[in-house]
Amino acid sequence: MGNNHEIVWNSCLKVIKDNISLQAYKTWFEPIVPVKLEDNILTIQVPSHFFYEWLEEHYITLLKKVIKKELGVEGTLEYSIVMENTATNSTPYTVKLPALNRKSVKNAPVTMPINLNENQIRNPFIIPGLKKVNVDSNLNPSYSFENFIEGDCNRLARASGYAVANKPGGTAFNPLLIYGGVGLGKTHLAHAIGIAIKNQTPNKTVLYVGSEKFAHQFIDALKNHTTNDFIHFYQMIDVLIIDDVQFFSGKEKTQDVFFHIFNHLHQNGKQIILTSDKPPVEMQGMEQRLLSRFKWGLSADLSTPDLETRIAILEKKMYGNGIDLPRDVVEYLAYSINTNVREMEGALNTLLAQASLNKKAITIELAKQMVDKFVKNTAREVSIEYIQKVVCDYFDLPIEMLKSKTRKREVVQARQISMFFSKKMTKSSLANIGAHCGGKDHATVLHACRTVMNLSETDKQFRAYLEDLEKKLTIQ
Ligand code: ADP
Ligand code: MG
Repeated sequence: MGNNHEIVWNSCLKVIKDNISLQAYKTWFEPIVPVKLEDNILTIQVPSHFFYEWLEEHYITLLKKVIKKELGVEGTLEYSIVMENTATNSTPYTVKLPALNRKSVKNAPVTMPINLNENQIRNPFIIPGLKKVNVDSNLNPSYSFENFIEGDCNRLARASGYAVANKPGGTAFNPLLIYGGVGLGKTHLAHAIGIAIKNQTPNKTVLYVGSEKFAHQFIDALKNHTTNDFIHFYQMIDVLIIDDVQFFSGKEKTQDVFFHIFNHLHQNGKQIILTSDKPPVEMQGMEQRLLSRFKWGLSADLSTPDLETRIAILEKKMYGNGIDLPRDVVEYLAYSINTNVREMEGALNTLLAQASLNKKAITIELAKQMVDKFVKNTAREVSIEYIQKVVCDYFDLPIEMLKSKTRKREVVQARQISMFFSKKMTKSSLANIGAHCGGKDHATVLHACRTVMNLSETDKQFRAYLEDLEKKLTIQ
């Protein structure tokens, strides 16, 4: 019995791992140590108070679910926080903090049962008398329109989502299909539409469901001979949001049942919102009749946000979490992680965790180390944009000057230095570097590089500039 807490916690971890990104898992769950299990109370030890707050803020729903799954409705989670200055003590002091009750207590071990709100539709097919039941919409309130930053990358999708939200079923955008690559905001936008509809017309039955879950529910219904209930349930929804429909590809029976549900809803003026990682024309393994339905309404794409939008998104997230980071750190993250928003947010979270665990201030150096170590698959090399920014900041010049044709001495110098570092630190071609620096050709860039090399050998002051800049640009 002695190691029960470990067994229970390990089972919890298995589920958690499947539900969050690997990076988040490593950052927030690997450092946790299960301490004991007594009277159905599982105590876990976390490294800091910040850590505890972060878990409560971001993972409490998941934690509640896994605890309930492992320990039943009476199951309770308690945190113990390692106090500082006890490194030499073999039994660390702990502060007990209850889950979900941070504001009201200090140090008092209060416990809370985990069965607070059982939001999930456990068995959606049991519908008493087929009258409208209160279906939980499964919407995440933080994925609202207010929290969705607008940019060129998402203007059409956002605007059509907004139109749909204002008149569900009453626009030409039915279905509304939002498509785009990983981490670009499809799920967020889909939720935002649902939330807005729910706010305006609380009586409408809105349901958000992942296509995977939909498919599993259907398989279960087949097994239990309850497909009719399944179909009826979905046919009474007013606004049906299905996320990641590409998952239906190759699943003929699921497509079939979805086709019927779709037709029923559409004929009755109900709104359908779908997301997918590719446009209908590129969806493989999908029945033609379903694809043609997808094209009935509007397909709107989400693309990679530009730098300004990325900075705005980070600022919004920070603001929402009550975090304040130095501007240069925010810019650095936005500059160096340009693949997708989720990755950028992951980096932000990892940075906060690192700073908290190691009790370090969040500086640009720490950000660089972190991006270097933790963020895979991103441009680890600095970008031309970033080099230009650092050089311009250093010489206190507006970046537009650098990109202009001006021949002012100090601008020419900064431009040449930018070209030099771009050649040295990125894989860009000379022509590409030139294009970024006021539309110069490759010969001009080459000339700039030579000039910088020559000057650095003869001019001490100039060499000092280069050394300073190199330090600022180097990822440690
Ligand atoms: P997808 O479903 O396309 O893979 P998500 O909707 O899950 O992507 O978005 C990933 C993360 O990026 C989410 O945390 C989301 O809030 C955030 N995000 C994406 N686009 C935006 C945006 N325009 N404004 C604010 N946050 C965004
Ligand atoms: Mg998604």
